[in-house]
This record gives sequence, structure tokens and C-alpha cells, in this order.
Amino acid sequence: MLKFDSFYFQCPHCQAWLEGRNLKAELVNEAILYSDGKVLNDNLITTPQKMIMCPSCGHIFWVENPVEPLITYDKPDAEVYSWNTWRFFGISFSDNKGKLALINHYKTFLKKSHYDPRKEIYLRRFLWWAYNDLHRNHQHVRLRYWLNGFMSFGVWHCNRKLILEGEKIFIKHYKEFTDNLKRLMALLEKHPEEQIDLELPEIYRELRQFDKAKELLEQVGSRTHFTNEMLRHSKWKDARVFMVSG
Ligand SMILES: [Zn+2]
Repeated sequence: MLKFDSFYFQCPHCQAWLEGRNLKAELVNEAILYSDGKVLNDNLITTPQKMIMCPSCGHIFWVENPVEPLITYDKPDAEVYSWNTWRFFGISFSDNKGKLALINHYKTFLKKSHYDPRKEIYLRRFLWWAYNDLHRNHQHVRLRYWLNGFMSFGVWHCNRKLILEGEKIFIKHYKEFTDNLKRLMALLEKHPEEQIDLELPEIYRELRQFDKAKELLEQVGSRTHFTNEMLRHSKWKDARVFMVSG
């Protein structure tokens, strides 16, 4: 069964056709949610990619409101660049080199130009998630995870090596990681309409400001599994991104 609905749009510079994908709404509930707000479905991010680098001419452009006539749902009678050729700028994430390449893309975009606050928030949020990708699923390094039988020893061992290596790279870039988070936090405080659920307490937690994170979480009216988990991790003084549900 196809998990996505395809749509098509053109590069404004060279008019090449690109295929986009929207996750089918009924599958959103099957997704994995992480504490930083990233949602994955079958290992694919569900948040639409708004900044695109054309795989044909390298032109960078934004697709912010994918509505007709800019976007069509009928396959055009022309050659189409598939989604894999441009999503995340064509990067493969099978190793940490790919994850670092994505970080560098966002850093370059942010250095190259000034963006309006909404766009800067978008880029800094994706940069944050890209840093976290280096050690996302850290709980999988535990022997218990292999013993639970989710994967073979070979796969678990390989995956463990990748995450531990990613954690080292994350620590090496920690200053850049916190600089980006501080800037993102300042932007979100100025533009609360752009905040996603529990994003601010999570930023405080990842910046190791656990008391501030707890204070904000305790103000949340209705307690959910998400708020309880974040409170627990704040109390443990654990600043690493974690899986909330999946
Ligand atoms: Zn182009």
C-alpha cells in the first residue's frame, strides 16, 4: 500500500518537475514521536520540507503553501525528479557523514542570507533536529534493546556503533548545537504562534536548564504522557532527545 499521496511542482528557475509527497492522514497515528517534536513514520519525517534545492539546476527555493495552481496532483506529461532526488537535498542517512552533510547544508543556508523570522525558525528547527539525529534513539545502544528481540545481534551491534559514533560527533559540535537552540528559543519567544507543542520546555531541557523546563511543564493544564515523560527526564537531569511514543 502506498503511504503517500504524490503531488508535483516546478522549479521556478529551470521549470524542472519535482515529485512531492504527503503522508496519508490515516497513517499519522502510526508515527513515532520524539521529545524535540520530530515525527517519523516508517523512518520518514512527516513534517513537509519547505526549502528545496532543485536537483536539476541547484536553485534554492521555498514551497510554503503547497496549493494549486503552484502544485498539481496530476502527474505532468514530462520527466519528473522523484522525491528521493531532492528531499533533504538528496542526502543518504545510512551513516553519520550524511547526517553531518545535512547539518552543514542548514548552517550554510543560515549563513548565506537573512530570512524572515518564520523561515529562520523553520531552518533552525530542522538544524536542531539534524544535530539530534546524530544520537537519536540512544536507548537502542543498551544490551536490553537487543535482548528484547527487536533486531538481530549483527544489526543491533552495527546500529550501536553508529549511535555511539554519532554521540561523539554531537559532543564535538555541542557549542554550535546550543548556539542554535538559544537563537531558536529567542525567536520562538518573540513569535509564540510558531511554537509547536511543548517546544519551549524541551529546548530548556536540552540546554540543561532543567528547573526552567520543569517550571514550564508544571504550568501545562492537562497532563499527558508527553508532559509526564518530559518531567521525568528533566528530574533525572537528562538532556538527550528521547522517544516519547512509537
Ligand atoms: Zn531548477
